[in-house]
Amino acid sequence: MGVANNRSIAWGIAKAARAHGAELALTYQGDALKKRVEPLAAELGAFIAGHCDVTDGATIDAVFAAIEKEWGKLDFIVHAIAFSDKDELTGRYLDTSEDNFTKSLLISCYSLTAVAQRAEKLMTDGGSILTLTYYGAEKWMPHYNVMGVAKAALEASVRYLAADLGPQNIRVNAISAGPIKTLAASGIGDFRYILKWNEYNSPLRRTVTIEEVGESAAFLLSDMGRGITGEVTHVDAGYHVVGMKNPEAPDI
Ligand code: NAD
Repeated sequence: MGVANNRSIAWGIAKAARAHGAELALTYQGDALKKRVEPLAAELGAFIAGHCDVTDGATIDAVFAAIEKEWGKLDFIVHAIAFSDKDELTGRYLDTSEDNFTKSLLISCYSLTAVAQRAEKLMTDGGSILTLTYYGAEKWMPHYNVMGVAKAALEASVRYLAADLGPQNIRVNAISAGPIKTLAASGIGDFRYILKWNEYNSPLRRTVTIEEVGESAAFLLSDMGRGITGEVTHVDAGYHVVGMKNPEAPDI
């Protein structure tokens, strides 16, 4: 869930999962994205599980009904969904409106729980649920604002869902990806600066790609990650271990 185009992190994950032998289903949000997702689904031999807008529970139900009809069960699910009003991804967190706070938390955080409720019923042989988060959940980041708060709540949800679903051998994890130029990221103020800052200051001296996030995701989704649950794995070229600016970094 969350392929918007071929730059989406969910697309990097879908490609990696397919390369490792997974059978896939993709969802899309609205007719505009349907046109983009259909050719991508065809590329991977994935079936289209339908339109899903997580603010409308009936569309989530419809997607899971389509999956049940096609496969009868589900092994893993990727939740790569987030939204905030672009106008509030700049300036001060202090100025967040109640309306955008509620909407951002519903779409970017509660939707994981809504999806997990449906997935539980189809994961009859255990399963793996994976969501995407960002370091702005742990530390202040310029312009990330309400998304940082939503991601912090999302990471806490991962831990609570992991505890609830563990007895059924359903694992719940998150990947905290470094910044990547996607449609959603283009809404964040000064995003090019953030990319450059990460490139100059991360231990690997670069940013990460959707393919790299995809490979790590394939590991967590597969049985190779079977001992891991409730975890937030950073796939960020090591940026999260850095405590101060690299003195050799050029000015941006
Ligand atoms: P993207 O724009 O390609 O994907 C975002 C997806 O969210 C889209 O497919 C969109 O349709 C979906 N979405 C938004 N509102 C929705 C709704 N109401 N119902 C259903 N779907 C909805 O961007 P992306 O960067 O690949 O984002 C995927 C995830 O990765 C997000 O959770 C994002 O916060 C996270 N993430 C991104 C970065 C980055 O730098 N790009 C870094 C860390 C984490």
